[in-house]
Amino acid sequence: MHAEFTPDLSGHSLLAVFAHPDDESLACGGLLARCSEQGARVALLCFTRGEHGPGPDRERLIDARPRELQEAARVLGIQDVVLLEHEDGMLPWIDPATLERDIRDAIQRFEPDVVVTFDEDGLYWHPDHVTLHDRVTSVVAGLGAAAPALRYVSVPEGVMRDVVEAAAHDAGCHGSRSAPILGIEDADAFGSGAPAPDLIVEAGSCAARKVTALRSHRSQVAGTALDCLDESLAARLLGTEHYRRAKVGATGTAFSDCLATPVAASRRQT
Ligand SMILES: [Zn+2]
Repeated sequence: MHAEFTPDLSGHSLLAVFAHPDDESLACGGLLARCSEQGARVALLCFTRGEHGPGPDRERLIDARPRELQEAARVLGIQDVVLLEHEDGMLPWIDPATLERDIRDAIQRFEPDVVVTFDEDGLYWHPDHVTLHDRVTSVVAGLGAAAPALRYVSVPEGVMRDVVEAAAHDAGCHGSRSAPILGIEDADAFGSGAPAPDLIVEAGSCAARKVTALRSHRSQVAGTALDCLDESLAARLLGTEHYRRAKVGATGTAFSDCLATPVAASRRQT
């Protein structure tokens, strides 16, 4: 096993922009935990309370999911959580100017060096996720010379299939093997069609924190393969994260890129 690179990232800051509680942990819990562990300030802008997610009724979710998000944020070392109250599932129908104002406000407040959000596939083509990809890209493009770097995240293709199949062989997962992951029946939807990454982050020693953060979202993962799987196996399966440099925003190497392994262009084309 390689020794983990542990640079001092104090003085740097990262803003993650996502749609629902749990996106941050599932998509980039490893990167967020590593950045905060190395001293960077990590903030999260989450657009909805996820009240229409799978699980119990809306009234319970609207209370439970913000609490779960705070718990996940604590596990990942996210210092600031801004939780907006746009209606879950409705982001594509909200005036783009409203969403962009929220994003600009957060960038102004936290002055991040790096913004991370969904890639254009929205992890699994969720319309709220795809909308935020577009809106964040538009805001960062409009900031000109003052723009932070922008990195897109996607789920590595096949990871959720691996999680489901591992659960099928895990004695601790009896009865949980066929439950849909985060309400998605087709595990292959995650990452299928995602653009090829150019940066790969290994969560390394932070992978266990990623799993714990994900499992903090009890209302969403209880009874699924993500919840029942042996913890070290889950950390191994979920510990690799894929990122891509946006064509807009600050160019050059972002501070968070030092935690990543670049993917050679020749490999991306195959
Ligand atoms: Zn989501």
